Amino acid sequence: MPRVFSGIQPSGELHIGNYLGAVRNWVALQDTYECLFSIVDLHAITQPYEAQDLAPRTFDMAVGLLAAGLDPEQCTIFVQSHVPEHTALMWAFNTVAPLGELERQTQFKDKSARLESVAVGLLNYPVLQAADILLYRADLVPVGEDQLQHLELAREIARRFNARFGTDYFPEPQPLLTGATRIVGLDGQAKMSKSLGNTIGVLESPEAIWEKLRPAMTDPARKTRKDPGNPDICNLYSLHQHFSPAATVAEVAVKCRGALWGCLDCKRVLADNMIAHLAPIRERAAALRAHPERVREILAAGAERCRRLAAGTMAEVRRVMGFLPAGM
Ligand code: ATP
Ligand code: MG
Repeated sequence: MPRVFSGIQPSGELHIGNYLGAVRNWVALQDTYECLFSIVDLHAITQPYEAQDLAPRTFDMAVGLLAAGLDPEQCTIFVQSHVPEHTALMWAFNTVAPLGELERQTQFKDKSARLESVAVGLLNYPVLQAADILLYRADLVPVGEDQLQHLELAREIARRFNARFGTDYFPEPQPLLTGATRIVGLDGQAKMSKSLGNTIGVLESPEAIWEKLRPAMTDPARKTRKDPGNPDICNLYSLHQHFSPAATVAEVAVKCRGALWGCLDCKRVLADNMIAHLAPIRERAAALRAHPERVREILAAGAERCRRLAAGTMAEVRRVMGFLPAGM
């Protein structure tokens, strides 16, 4: 059975962009493939964060993923830092990863532009990502389009490592783009992203969802209720397409083009549909929060399985790279 690997950073709340662009897809994949899903805390620390937030965010991300439908009977869910081989393999890959390519990564350019001082970890982020995937010799990586460039680099790293050490040990992982969507943030500008604060959380209360949707950016042509709009360029219309029934989506387009209602009316309908859609996930999350020991057990079992797989890969990596085995 082909193996799938994917990850999500505990850099903030699980948001509807993550859900529509990635997690919903993971839930579907777990029936068909052998799936490994990681909460990539080692990636999350490449951005500014408070140490006291990291553990609770990691735990909350596990709750969110399980509530969204990942089933520990069907897939492996684990925390990246619980498997130290991720960083060991990354170091090996650092010796073959091309610096020029790393500097050209869009995510690096975007994220580093927002920082006063840029750490090497942010540059090497895609090398760690290559290690995440290749540590398990995964065949397929479901990614949003924002991660395609990183995956291409992981393939390049696999090729370079194999060529340098005369092996074919690492396969070139392929992207799995089924249903890939790019959700734009509430600012109507950048992609919805934990680090930009333009998100709606999957586990947010109905009141919080409304508070966030109310001021969200719409088609700027609709200055007043009487100005017609173009739904095709309105971010909220694209959210309707994900959360509202087809008949409502059609009605929204007509009312927007004809200035038959205001943006606030449109947002209220969207909020109601979004809240209804997310309600079962919120309920499951509350049930899981009542049993935190269950979540911890799931993560412990996932890490144990991954450490076993990772040890096999690292033994082979050490062998082909020519290291003196320990104890000799
Ligand atoms: P950060 O801002 O910290 O990078 P993020 O919101 O981009 O956080 P990630 O943890 O980097 O989230 O990505 C997790 C998964 O969610 C990835 O598969 C990524 O492709 C997908 N994803 C992230 N943002 C979006 C979005 N706006 N639309 C669709 N998919 C997304
Ligand atoms: Mg991201």
